[in-house]
Amino acid sequence: MRSALRSLRAFAGLAAAVARANLGSARPFKATVVLTERCDCRCEICGIWRKPKAPEPTPDDVARFLRGAPSVRWLNLTGGEIFLRDDVEAVCEAAVAAQPLLAVLDFPTTGQRTERIVAAVDRIARLGVPRFFVTVSVEGPPALHDRLRGREGAFERALTTYAALRGRRDVAAFLGLTLSDRNEGALEATFPALFELSLEHRDALLSPGDARVASLFASHFVEESKARADIRRSSAACPRASSRSRSRASCVRSCRAIARPTSRSSRSRLPGSRPTRAAST
Ligand code: SF4
Repeated sequence: MRSALRSLRAFAGLAAAVARANLGSARPFKATVVLTERCDCRCEICGIWRKPKAPEPTPDDVARFLRGAPSVRWLNLTGGEIFLRDDVEAVCEAAVAAQPLLAVLDFPTTGQRTERIVAAVDRIARLGVPRFFVTVSVEGPPALHDRLRGREGAFERALTTYAALRGRRDVAAFLGLTLSDRNEGALEATFPALFELSLEHRDALLSPGDARVASLFASHFVEESKARADIRRSSAACPRASSRSRSRASCVRSCRAIARPTSRSSRSRLPGSRPTRAAST
């Protein structure tokens, strides 16, 4: 009851701050704080990891900043890779102490340190910020992702982190892809690498979100399935089919559950069409 009331007050505060901003107020409702310029990836497009390092904001610095900007109800922590710091939890605790009605807390991650990230998320989730989400960044299909990140195995590690966070009730996990001229045209090629995850978390990858992306994803899945001779062969290629804990029948059911919404989502391909739930739980 207390936490429901807190959520209500936090979201009401955020809504009011957004409304004020839309009416021209200069008071911000969201703040992005760069916690570090260190990174565990070596992307050419960014180069942040090459820069000389400035002092990083301490938990006290972040708290002081929030106390001075009480209209901020959405805190985005970014880097670099914030989990190269060992005090991200302390930063979040200080932030919530300074602004108990924080409504949204989020951060992106390269997802390279699954254990560290999951342990931090465990602790941060206990702070009870009503909307807490983490975005694991991918840049394209595995080989391209690893090349752009400058780290072999980076894609695999990112997906391991995503899978570890996905499905938890206390945090929302997303995959994020930043399009640039280096991965332009690679969006569709990224989908097959995500099929296994789509089977495990079929609601999460397709919906809610951009119906056109969901449509492309679902189309690729079905094309992939069609390319195999029949649903039985398709299920044999499904990672679940090789799992001892999953029967072939279970795998086939999963494939069908993914494929079923395709006709609906295909209809929503046109830009501007109404978002459609491309899959359901
Ligand atoms: S992962 Fe992000 S912050 Fe790190 S080097 Fe690449 S683009 Fe820059």
